[in-house]
Amino acid sequence: MAQFIFVTGGVVSSLGKGLASASLASLLQHHGYKVRIRKLDPYLNVDPGTMSPYQHGEVYVTDDGAETDLDLGHYERFTGVTSKRTDNITSGKVYQKIIAKERKGEYLGATVQVIPHVTNEIKEFVSKDLDDEDFIICEIGGTIGDIESLPFIEAIRQFHNDNGHENSLFMHVTLVPYIASSGELKTKPTQHSVKELRSLGIQPNILLCRADREIPEDERRKIGLFCNVKGDCVIPAINANSIYEVPINFLNEGLDKRILEYFRLEPKKEIDLKMWSQVSKRILEPEGSIEIGIVGKYTGLADAYKSLNEALSHGGIFNNVKVKLNWIESEELNGSNIENKLNNCHGILVPGGFGERGAEGKIAAIKYARENKIPYFGICFGMQLAVIEMARNILGIKDANSSEFADCKESIVGLMTEWSNVDNTTEKRTKESDLGGTMRLGAYEAKLKKNSKVRKIYDTELISERHRHRYEVNNNYAKDFEINGVHFSGYSPDGLLPEIVELRDHPWFIGVQFHPELKSKPFDPHPLFKSFITAAKNKT
Ligand code: GLN
Repeated sequence: MAQFIFVTGGVVSSLGKGLASASLASLLQHHGYKVRIRKLDPYLNVDPGTMSPYQHGEVYVTDDGAETDLDLGHYERFTGVTSKRTDNITSGKVYQKIIAKERKGEYLGATVQVIPHVTNEIKEFVSKDLDDEDFIICEIGGTIGDIESLPFIEAIRQFHNDNGHENSLFMHVTLVPYIASSGELKTKPTQHSVKELRSLGIQPNILLCRADREIPEDERRKIGLFCNVKGDCVIPAINANSIYEVPINFLNEGLDKRILEYFRLEPKKEIDLKMWSQVSKRILEPEGSIEIGIVGKYTGLADAYKSLNEALSHGGIFNNVKVKLNWIESEELNGSNIENKLNNCHGILVPGGFGERGAEGKIAAIKYARENKIPYFGICFGMQLAVIEMARNILGIKDANSSEFADCKESIVGLMTEWSNVDNTTEKRTKESDLGGTMRLGAYEAKLKKNSKVRKIYDTELISERHRHRYEVNNNYAKDFEINGVHFSGYSPDGLLPEIVELRDHPWFIGVQFHPELKSKPFDPHPLFKSFITAAKNKT
């Protein structure tokens, strides 16, 4: 049987439970074990697909087409294990399933209750769809004390009893704050958080204590004593210089040892974290720096573009440069300030996006990049707007637009009403379809044209990338574009949907209908990001 590690959080949110889970998984992998990481989110949305990325952070899309929590992106970037739809549940999804069953009469007259029906569904999720993994790490979203996470805490408590205590472990991530006026680290918030957890029937086995400085041995012992945890299982998690140093820090603090001891397991091979030390060194000691202007809508939440930030930094790791990100608010861009705002950028990127607000500013930035031969990378919406810009300014179609926000005679970018899935089934949509889960989602293949830039970059003909969009570039203009040096260099395998557009007479101008940032890894940077950053570096 697989061993289960349940990760909960206490004191405050944003302690980096996701990164801690991903780093622990990487350590166990480096000991020779097969891992899987799952996220249990207590909110009521069925999935985060309908939530604003500016409030909740990026929606991470899996190969099998699920819209999931951004923590699944950390898991993939740290472990290289491809996440699946079954790796993320929410209360909404659990209740949706239970209510559907209840309506069908499947509960045979029983009163449907949180215990046992909701907790049973959660327990089933935790151990379903596994593939011979040695360790399953389950991160519970939210903070201990939240009303909405109670069924999840109760379910993992039951799971621990049902499956034998030696087969699951509880790791609680807490905060040990430093109070400047008294010059002390404070253990009380951790004590209270563990008290709360114990009142719900869970005794943590490991405490991972976030702190901004060393936690002295005495304080650790005190935390252990008050929280009923062994002294050496109180593990400090001191702020790291780079997130990719965290696995190394955990190794130095002995987190992996304590976990293997608990499960009475030995490492399967000698651990070697060279991969992480090389990545961290490249990030912390780059040989140069470049600046990329990202033109989008912002509310200051960096998590809204989490995978994009990471993928750009991976491109920097490959090129040995620091990639500085210059966030440019597209609504503020216009003809008169564009030169001023963009002339320091070595590359310009328009990321995925939705809706009309700020679209004209993005189009102006694309025109500037095209005309001034600045490397341009358009992702999803950034590709669609690039095609609109070129339709207006190269083909002379003045009212070229997307039917996402304009009623035009013939849309350059139009609502996709029918497309074929990888398994040859057909998807159909209308303007009235639900918004949740109805986009073209997940991995689709694309064929790259010979003699194109992307073919050289990928060095293969058939690629598979993840999608998340409702609108599609209209292929009717492909011929007119081609005559003018605008090359549709990648298509869906049936040849109907343009997947990539590139400019022949430009150092680097590529728009892609998919989201390459979702598959980039620090130890295996995505080819498009490597190439884009190389082009930007050539501008310095
Ligand atoms: N809004 C566009 C669409 O739905 C682009 C989506 C995106 O950039 N992810 O097609």
